[in-house]
Amino acid sequence: MVLKLTDVTVRFYETCVLKDISFSVNKGDYINIVGPNGSGKTTLIKVLTNLLTPTSGTVQFGNYRFGYVPQHLNKATFMPATVYEILKHSPQGKVTNEEIDVLLKQMDIFPLKHKKIKLLSGGESQRVYIIRALLSKPDVLILDEPTSALDYSFRNNFYQLIAELHRKGITIIHVTHDLTDGLRHGSKIIHLDHKILFSGNFDEYKAYQKKEGVH
Ligand code: ADP
Repeated sequence: MVLKLTDVTVRFYETCVLKDISFSVNKGDYINIVGPNGSGKTTLIKVLTNLLTPTSGTVQFGNYRFGYVPQHLNKATFMPATVYEILKHSPQGKVTNEEIDVLLKQMDIFPLKHKKIKLLSGGESQRVYIIRALLSKPDVLILDEPTSALDYSFRNNFYQLIAELHRKGITIIHVTHDLTDGLRHGSKIIHLDHKILFSGNFDEYKAYQKKEGVH
């Protein structure tokens, strides 16, 4: 078991942002958690990354290493740092230049190594954030709305990249408001709107969307 949520409820004063959320993630899963703006996705990510203790319910974590890919690295857009400098000063401590180079090549951005991070496109920056998370050699990657900054072709590329990491054995938890066909890559979809409205595979989700008029 990678993690297990049981009846997780989060309230901010009068507002119930998450209600009775229960699901588990097992090694090798690729879970897409989808929901509209304001549905509680960011709050759920805070619970999943152990930054927020739920008002009630339990969160159990298995003995795995987690990597987190943020939506944005806010400071990065303003700093004059290069891709390489950002990666070299990643939170997991010492990383070798070789480790960075291997990942830059894998992610097809090796030529951007000495480019200033603020000059990168949305898709290129996302790759830097993914590399930054991969440097800690995670068993599990939690991706926060990674496609929001990407145009259609980058988004497709991105989904292929994540599917590739999944094939290599990394468990994926992808949180997004994107309801396009990219979700097909996942083994399970959870539709969130403060509570879990749907949980199942891609084909079942398509049928659910049609029935409920969800777009
Ligand atoms: P999403 O990421 O899906 O857009 P959020 O988890 O950011 O959703 O927010 C869901 C709701 O919870 C929003 O209405 C937001 O205003 C509210 N909310 C989030 N964090 C707080 C907080 N710290 N205090 C009060 N309300 C909050």
